Amino acid sequence: MVLIPARMSEAEERRWVTVMLDKLAAQESKRILGDGELAARAGRLSGQYLEGRARPASVRWVTNQNTRWGSCTPAEGSIRLSHRLQGMPEYVIDYVLLHELAHLLVPGHGPRFWRLLECYPRTERARGYLEGVVAADRLPHLPAARGE
Ligand SMILES: [Zn+2]
Repeated sequence: MVLIPARMSEAEERRWVTVMLDKLAAQESKRILGDGELAARAGRLSGQYLEGRARPASVRWVTNQNTRWGSCTPAEGSIRLSHRLQGMPEYVIDYVLLHELAHLLVPGHGPRFWRLLECYPRTERARGYLEGVVAADRLPHLPAARGE
């Protein structure tokens, strides 16, 4: 997401977008995790926050998931994360991963579910970040929203 302040000239805007995109690209290229790394991360999160009780059979990125950041099929033990998370801060990816891991243990979003996530210190921050991304996508004049 690239937010553009109001009242820039077109030339300024182009320059600024280029600079920001370069910066983002530099950050993102470091952060994209392979499916194997995702699985390793899921194992660490399960051990750290769920006493190792969530054991996914597969964890992978998918590109066909536009309305959900993550999903899981408890019967198969499979977890899928939207590729739109790639390049986001690690604590956000970890939150979505931990959320889906918790669903392997508790379906739905009742009190028992949220209690499982209580130990993760950045749940609220990650949820706020994701809400911000969604809100920003809806604003006009965002390169990310163009052509949709
Ligand atoms: Zn959920």
